[in-house]
Amino acid sequence: GPEVFQPQRANARGFDLAHTPTLAAIEEARAPFADATWEAAPLLAGEAAPEAAQTVANPTGGTSPGTVCPASKADVATALDNAAPWDAPLDARRATLLRAADMFEDRYGEIFAILAREAGKQLPDCVAELREAVDFLRYYAGQATNEPPAGIFTCISPWNFPLAIFCGQVTAALAAGNAVLAKPAEQTPLIAQLAVKVLHEAGVPRSALQLLPGGGEVGAALTGDARVNGVAFTGSTATALRIRANMAEHCAPGTPLIAETGGLNAMIVDSTALPEQAVQAIVESAFQSAGQRCSAVRCLYVQEDIAEDLITMLKGAMQALRMGDPWHLSTDVGPVIDAAARQTIVEHIEAARAEGRLIAELKAPEGGTFVGPAILRVNSIADMKREIFGPVLHVATFKSHELDAVIDAINATGYGLTFGLHTRIDDRVQHVSERIEAGNIYVNRNQIGAIVGSQPFGGEGLSGTGPKAGGPNYLPRFAAPDHQEASG
Ligand code: GLU
Repeated sequence: GPEVFQPQRANARGFDLAHTPTLAAIEEARAPFADATWEAAPLLAGEAAPEAAQTVANPTGGTSPGTVCPASKADVATALDNAAPWDAPLDARRATLLRAADMFEDRYGEIFAILAREAGKQLPDCVAELREAVDFLRYYAGQATNEPPAGIFTCISPWNFPLAIFCGQVTAALAAGNAVLAKPAEQTPLIAQLAVKVLHEAGVPRSALQLLPGGGEVGAALTGDARVNGVAFTGSTATALRIRANMAEHCAPGTPLIAETGGLNAMIVDSTALPEQAVQAIVESAFQSAGQRCSAVRCLYVQEDIAEDLITMLKGAMQALRMGDPWHLSTDVGPVIDAAARQTIVEHIEAARAEGRLIAELKAPEGGTFVGPAILRVNSIADMKREIFGPVLHVATFKSHELDAVIDAINATGYGLTFGLHTRIDDRVQHVSERIEAGNIYVNRNQIGAIVGSQPFGGEGLSGTGPKAGGPNYLPRFAAPDHQEASG
């Protein structure tokens, strides 16, 4: 196999948020950006002729963080004409990516400010997001090889991890030597703009990394051209299917699509579980990041004997969550991304209320696009037709002899991203883990927040194509198809 380069520090240092002086330092670093504005526009290896500027929304209802000029058709053509794989020597590529990682860590004040005001991220999520982005940079830099690149790679990233997943896709493609065309989610162009500027400043040539902000039309143009040699996408299953069809029509046969999509993730809590541990894990997995993680738990199965007590504890823990503007450092749950997302989630909760299935909810603050976390009753995961991407937990109960039927029902959704199990029976851990079809299985802990390098993340079935991000098999898939076996 290839020689593996080990960076000195494997995971980013992060911040201790229980340490008062650290919080004060974060406050000070972020303060100058409280009312700042940023501008996103195509960053091309040629002249850009973008569409008119649009206002970027602030999901908290606060002041807009800036404007974005979406890429035009002409900009996509310019990007494709001028894209050139990154042919710098291996050592230079690694050094450039590692330099960029350090630069991201240094600019945390500005990064946290954009994440709070553009994506509505509360502080612990800002910290986790920056760490993950930096971890991806160092991890993939360490795996860079001299295998021939695929060529031109389109990377389309989601708004829920607008820095981490953006950097993960882009730097994997770059570490493999590709020319990258990056399209961030429509809602979060500003943090992507900062990321690309940092990467350019660190030394990535413009011809190897171009930014094309925009919506579905830009995405379609960037995934429907014969010159595109590969696509990395994270987002909804429906969009992934559209991209696949578009590529089948316009790209060369066999052009790889690396897709990370949705989930209908379950957790099973049996009557031997430690209740306090389970409740904390449930609250984190369901409501942290306002439930806007594809790893979040959507359906909790509690064994009947303990269901009443556990739900009482769960309601208590939910009441303790602080909702509000993520600019306040003590906020636990921020807003959902936009008004359309809120409407979908609220309609779902209202339908459950009308049917008498609402177990508990928190009242959302006024202004912005907040949704109060809610717990709904369901009979089975089979009742859940699709992923509701917000702070909504569905709860079902099961009897001891129904465990295998529950596993079958979970597998029958066709999704297979994360799964959580709380039990103190060793044999059960073995039995359930062997039968559950999910990419990431977590036992007696929460089921979010996979760590780059130690918990490669990705799903099966409708949840994605693999390979897992942050794992050893990811980067080789960005090499020329003929060379993937040699490097895998
Ligand atoms: N990697 C994230 C986690 O483990 C989820 C990624 C996503 O939501 O796309 O929580």
